Amino acid sequence: MAKRVLITGAAGFLGSHLCDRFIAEGYDVLAMDNLITGDLRNIEHLFPLKNFTFYNHDVSNYVYVPGELDYILHFASPASPIDYLKIPIQTLKVGSLGTHNLLGLAKAKSARILVASTSEVYGDPEMHPQKESYWGHVNPIGPRGVYDEAKRFQEAITMAYHRFHGLETRIVRIFNTYGPRMRLNDGRVLPAFIGQALRGEDFTVFGDGSQTRSFCYVDDLVEGIYRLLLSDYAEPVNIGNPDEITIREFADEIIELTGAKTKVDYKDLPHDDPKKRRPDITLARKLLNWEPKVSRNKGLKITLDYFKSLDREDLYKKDH
Ligand code: NAD
Ligand code: UDP
Repeated sequence: MAKRVLITGAAGFLGSHLCDRFIAEGYDVLAMDNLITGDLRNIEHLFPLKNFTFYNHDVSNYVYVPGELDYILHFASPASPIDYLKIPIQTLKVGSLGTHNLLGLAKAKSARILVASTSEVYGDPEMHPQKESYWGHVNPIGPRGVYDEAKRFQEAITMAYHRFHGLETRIVRIFNTYGPRMRLNDGRVLPAFIGQALRGEDFTVFGDGSQTRSFCYVDDLVEGIYRLLLSDYAEPVNIGNPDEITIREFADEIIELTGAKTKVDYKDLPHDDPKKRRPDITLARKLLNWEPKVSRNKGLKITLDYFKSLDREDLYKKDH
């Protein structure tokens, strides 16, 4: 019998790629989403399959699915700063109440659960690169706190279910990931710059652009998550690409890639914007024999082709 996996946040960027991967591996996939930041177009190609079922449901409310479950992947949560600043309470709820509901479901079904955590648990880090042992530097009451603290609570309650109930749990700390199916207007830096390039607008670089990020192509991330789920390690594992770049250099790369004739327009740096971010992936290398394979140059080309293939109205859509 095929194994059954429940994926929350399935209509979003990462959730939809996970659905594709688990379908390709022969699983029965139960996909759940309330479409608050997701888009059914990301998974509509899976609807005709008999091993794919979609539930339109807000996981911050009691979650039920019929039958047995082997695995749960909890990816429901707004993920882009402009999304979680717009819907702060839902963000706190899905990271806390939503996670609690899914842990309860995992316990009831004797399923293994993997939760999507984030490099944001390290906040504006004082340790560089960031190792899993670093406790972080987060402003709990700043605007980003709604996301960071929800995810920190998520990790805490997941470890409590593991220690207290003996539940099989996995925690992935995801660093900035990009690829096809990101929303062009989600405010994250890569779709922002590519959208601006395609519309012929100036690039909005926040601050002086000296802050760094390290971008991981989505297929590499999915491979890391798949290996982590099947591993026997319950504590958090960083999955990301350590190839670090300043946002200013990133803008230049996208200008070169797209051939855009645009200037850079410097805007104010958002509150608590982390100055540096790069994963230390020593643990993932050792434990999962995993490391990223797709270079930024290659990943950006694939992503640009995806954005170019969208309808023109998507290019100009301002809000979700
Ligand atoms: P996304 O916004 O594209 O997808 C999130 C999905 O969750 C959306 O489809 C949304 O509708 C759904 N959702 C939100 N709240 C829900 C709720 N209460 N009930 C049901 N569905 C709900 O974002 P993404 O980039 O795919 O991120 C997915 C997960 O990965 C999130 O948990 C995020 O925190 C985590 N993550 C992502 C990144 C990244 O670089 N993309 C980095 C770190 C962590
Ligand atoms: N950023 C930018 N211009 C934009 C969007 C983002 O300069 O139009 C910057 C942002 O301030 C941050 C970095 O790019 O320093 C990455 O931002 P993103 O929202 O993609 O993700 P974060 O890692 O901050 O969650």
